[in-house]
Amino acid sequence: MEFRVLSELCERLSSTTKRNVKVEMAAEFLKRLDSEEVEPAVSMILGRAFPRWDPRTLDISWATLSNVIKRLTDVDWRRFSKVFRDTGDLGSTVKSIFESSKVGRQAVLFERPLSILEVRRILEAIAEASGQGSRERKDRLVESLLGRASPIEAKYLVKIMIGEMRTGFQEGLMELAVSKAFSTPLEAVQKASMLTGDVGEVASLLREYGEEALSRIGFRLMRPLKPMLAQMAESPDEAIREHGGKTAFEYKLDGARIQIHKVGEEVKIFSRRLTDVTESLPEIVQAVREGVKVHDAVLEGEVIAVGGDGHPLPFQHLMRRFRRVYEVDRMVQEIPVKLYLFDLLYVDGESLIDEPYLKRRNRLSKVVEGIPLTEQLVTGNPAEAEEFLKRAIEMGHEGLMAKRLDSPYKPGVRGKHWFKIKEPLEPLDLVITAAEYGYGRRHGWLSDYYLAARDEETGELLVVGKTFKGLTDQEIIEMTERLKRLAVREEGHRVVVKPRIVVEVAYNEIQKSPKYKCGMALRFARITRIRDDKSPEEADTIQKVRRIYEKQFEKKAKL
Ligand code: AMP
Repeated sequence: MEFRVLSELCERLSSTTKRNVKVEMAAEFLKRLDSEEVEPAVSMILGRAFPRWDPRTLDISWATLSNVIKRLTDVDWRRFSKVFRDTGDLGSTVKSIFESSKVGRQAVLFERPLSILEVRRILEAIAEASGQGSRERKDRLVESLLGRASPIEAKYLVKIMIGEMRTGFQEGLMELAVSKAFSTPLEAVQKASMLTGDVGEVASLLREYGEEALSRIGFRLMRPLKPMLAQMAESPDEAIREHGGKTAFEYKLDGARIQIHKVGEEVKIFSRRLTDVTESLPEIVQAVREGVKVHDAVLEGEVIAVGGDGHPLPFQHLMRRFRRVYEVDRMVQEIPVKLYLFDLLYVDGESLIDEPYLKRRNRLSKVVEGIPLTEQLVTGNPAEAEEFLKRAIEMGHEGLMAKRLDSPYKPGVRGKHWFKIKEPLEPLDLVITAAEYGYGRRHGWLSDYYLAARDEETGELLVVGKTFKGLTDQEIIEMTERLKRLAVREEGHRVVVKPRIVVEVAYNEIQKSPKYKCGMALRFARITRIRDDKSPEEADTIQKVRRIYEKQFEKKAKL
């Protein structure tokens, strides 16, 4: 199939926000592909040059890309920058430049059209260009690709090359489209996608062999599995309750999750995003060769950077280890890392993912020697667990994980089988702007409070959360009196008040949320103090809330 058809599909995908329309369009497209085109097409639509598990990368620099575009279009660079500023999208900029220059139009007229498979082959050649003279070779290959592209093809080639599609068509929707195109239940597609780590491969199997092929997908050594994820719990006590009275707490280390595949002496390491990071971690490879006493194994753990005294270092140090492909040896000296294992998913021909957690962990402890496991405490006693949390934090860790004792390993699932419990974030001083009457015993009391932060720029108070937690009954009664005096108007159950009262609020996370105008919401907010010593003007700002919000994600960046 021609690459043009794929580009047109992408263009149509980004022109609608309706999910079902997108899915329908993609499904129709997938049905028309030949078997060998399926995986490349699925990968490209998702903005990937290769399947996700594939370690190859294009590494095309901005310099290469812009040089090629300049050469091909003899574009006035000021114009390029202006269009780029206006659209904020490199692909669209390239399209517009191609439209107004001769090349793009000529390409359509004179050249043999690019096919999906040809594009894949050239991308492979780009990825494989390395060593001396590789920059020039890459340059020529990119030029050979873009030189034959029409404006719309150039747009999507560039997007694939930089790995950013922005069509609003993500993996979840692709799974729906694959399920539809190949008449296979969504659940089967999702499960296979988790096991193989790549929806493109699932689509390709379905196209070639049908649904039956999916049931044969077993564990694949040397191919990463999507990691099981955790939900946030407010406290150890909540985790104990949710897990039926007893659970396995572990230190939550502030590092990077890795999945290790070992077949004899061969070891591969994948990051949380399933990227192959083996080359950045030679000492972990060595430790696994020496310390894992079985032939084949898939293990999970967390690597952390450690200082001279063996204490964990902040995450930023570790990031440097992962980003480096060059000078690995020097980085190994400079930033030592340490591995802590916590799960065993496969051992010598046997998949353990459906086994209960405790059993996997026991097997793990028997299989390894000389590699530490994450510190663990199995308990149903909240006080003991609180103590364990305190210790974890004192030791410089992030908090605790709580894993249900009988839980299977659910690849890619963020459920209640695993909880994370973190130390509360830096408290905020917020202004009460409204309150609601409570229920039951609290009926008649204004006990549920809207908490707002000030916008430094406009002065407006923006709600960032709501809580009924933290105050004693006596304090609620007094607060009700004060708020009634400050009442501006009643809206049903809610009383809007003059913004006068400042409270200190603890919370565990700031989430992105459409609930409030500012787009963020505090998770597990609770009032820790009434700040009568502070005026509303001295309360924290929305800018500060946003900074804390953003800091949460810094570390998750691109590992
Ligand atoms: P979060 O990234 O906040 O959703 O928390 C989950 C992450 O915590 C995992 O992906 C791991 O990288 C990390 N982690 C740290 N210690 C552990 C542990 N003992 N068990 C599982 N995950 C852990």
